[in-house]
Amino acid sequence: DRTFKRILPDEGATERLGNDIAAALRPGDAVLLHGDLGAGKTSLARAVIRSLAGDRALEVPSPTFTLVQNYALRFPVQHVDLYRLADPGEVEELALDEALEESVILVEWPERAPGTFADAIEVRLSEKDDGREAEITAQEEAAARLERAFRI
Ligand code: ADP
Ligand code: MG
Repeated sequence: DRTFKRILPDEGATERLGNDIAAALRPGDAVLLHGDLGAGKTSLARAVIRSLAGDRALEVPSPTFTLVQNYALRFPVQHVDLYRLADPGEVEELALDEALEESVILVEWPERAPGTFADAIEVRLSEKDDGREAEITAQEEAAARLERAFRI
């Protein structure tokens, strides 16, 4: 595993991180977004989805109540928020793993369903001064793609 750290002084920096992550993503990737309420999980997911869509104004609502929002982009993208999951078993009912090979999945509150997503790109968001800090951990192959995207 490799870990990258990014300081995100403002929301624009969160958006740029989303663009970079989007550039690195391939179908089959799972991105787990860790962090407290307000840490910026939805903001980052929104930036990733808008970047993949090539549409900076695309409506990307928080999936807090729907639990899943689907996007038909170059490949299917699933934006998931497990905060309101009643119990971990309920994740099966969301049928998330059906098309995992062909799609990208972005998951807020993944710790609500431990063990569901293997070999994921893990993003840990936390408050830092007036902004945020992101720690991104990925396995070798995905880490190489991320490194390339971060460098360009
Ligand atoms: P979460 O989904 O983790 O609960 P949200 O993305 O819904 O968090 O909310 C995060 C809040 O923090 C938003 O109000 C957003 O504008 C703000 N925010 C996002 N990134 C940054 C940043 N890098 N610095 C300061 N504020 C940020
Ligand atoms: Mg959220």
